[in-house]
Amino acid sequence: MLKVEHIGIAVKSLAVSVPLFEKLLNTPCYKTEEVATEGVATAFFRQGETKIELLQALEAGSTIAKFLDRKGEGVHHIAFEVDDIYAEMRRLEAEGFTLVHPEPRPGADNKQVCFLHPKSTNGILIELTQERKA
Ligand code: ZN
Repeated sequence: MLKVEHIGIAVKSLAVSVPLFEKLLNTPCYKTEEVATEGVATAFFRQGETKIELLQALEAGSTIAKFLDRKGEGVHHIAFEVDDIYAEMRRLEAEGFTLVHPEPRPGADNKQVCFLHPKSTNGILIELTQERKA
């Protein structure tokens, strides 16, 4: 794994939280994007080498809606950048970690992503993320 690429934070409302994080980080949100397949709207901030990704549910029953119901707003996942997502998925599976999906999926910010189930990672949802090559 190369570095922490971003930290994902679940919020109830981007309209409320984007201005809050702009003040907190003293930097403007540079991108908002909806990922329809995941039922989520995202907003990104750059902080040095790392990004902050805010996640708002677009529909009841989506992953983020369920998370907010269970735990409320807060840190949702940590994303690590990898240079070969398939190789890293195979390595982690062989080490006994549980992949949420067997294949990488399209993520926000031109990435392909894969999640590790928190039950195999001390309760932390881990995302692997790799730049999608055009
Ligand atoms: Zn993420």
